[in-house]
Amino acid sequence: MFPSQFTYHAPATLGEALALLAEHGDDAKVLAGGQSLIPLMKLRFAAPPIIVDINRIPGLDTIAEEGGSLRVGALVRNRAIERSDVITSRYPTMAAAAPMISDPVVRNQGTFVGSLCHADPQGDWGSVMLALDGSVVARSVAGERVIPIGEFLDGPFTSTLRADELAVEARVPDPGSEFAGTYLKLERKVGDFATVGVAVFLATSGGTVTKAGIGLTGVGATNIKATAAEQALVGGTVSDALIEEAARLAAEAADPRTDIRGSADYKRDVVRVYVARGLRAAAATPVA
Ligand SMILES: Cc1cc2nc3c(=O)[nH]c(=O)nc-3n(C[C@H](O)[C@H](O)[C@H](O)COP(=O)(O)OP(=O)(O)OC[C@H]3O[C@@H](n4cnc5c(N)ncnc54)[C@H](O)[C@@H]3O)c2cc1C
Repeated sequence: MFPSQFTYHAPATLGEALALLAEHGDDAKVLAGGQSLIPLMKLRFAAPPIIVDINRIPGLDTIAEEGGSLRVGALVRNRAIERSDVITSRYPTMAAAAPMISDPVVRNQGTFVGSLCHADPQGDWGSVMLALDGSVVARSVAGERVIPIGEFLDGPFTSTLRADELAVEARVPDPGSEFAGTYLKLERKVGDFATVGVAVFLATSGGTVTKAGIGLTGVGATNIKATAAEQALVGGTVSDALIEEAARLAAEAADPRTDIRGSADYKRDVVRVYVARGLRAAAATPVA
């Protein structure tokens, strides 16, 4: 099927893009990698009259550590994350998730920030950002605001970004000096969306957990932050008993539905097993 008719804009500057979003509001949709928006338009699940293609705007494709956080620009592709030295060496949860996003074709085009804006509860990056306490920087003609990821992901395919705002970058806090993390994903076949995905992050000091992050994919109406499990880990030393307790609490936080990928009970148990497995793997490979 072909998309319904739309007017295409390809602004050359951020200012022009923001002016278009301010002028057209709900009628406009931002086009980044197009890996979710274009299929939706071709299926006519979405029929935006105005498309604002941001791909020609310079300066949005950088990955850099600055001001105590990692900054990932709106045009950073999944493939660039996979190949980034700073992410491979300092952000193990992101590094583990990157190669699990779909297939190379989608990763070459799809953007990290676009995935967050799409807010698919089966999107992998939302859980990674919840585990890492990341945020999204939203810009409009009225100014800029920084939205913590837990407030940004609002519901299935819904974020709290306003229609006149462009998400210009995502930020991830500096992991500190002793940290570990990973992402585990159960998928029916390579390239599939998650049946269950689990993002974990641990920061430690002398063996004591100082910060813990756990995000869950595909087991709720949004990606889920397993807050009680995180709190159980902080202040403890990683042991089998602590890992099992955190895994049990994470499974309690999941709210899965039975569908073609498995029953709700099965998915909840996969959360328990994967959180335990992820924490063990992370604890075994700390970066110090
Ligand atoms: C076959 C296939 C398999 C996939 N498998 C996975 C998978 O396993 N895991 C996974 O996580 N994802 C998967 N995806 C989704 C993929 O990661 C998408 O690329 C991603 O969700 C959207 O990123 P995009 O840059 O393509 O955004 P687009 O498709 O361009 O946009 C998506 C939405 O976000 C909005 N948007 C995008 N960027 C911005 C911005 N900067 N500011 C404001 N709004 C913005 C758009 O207006 C649109 O509503 C898959 C997609 C396909 C086609």
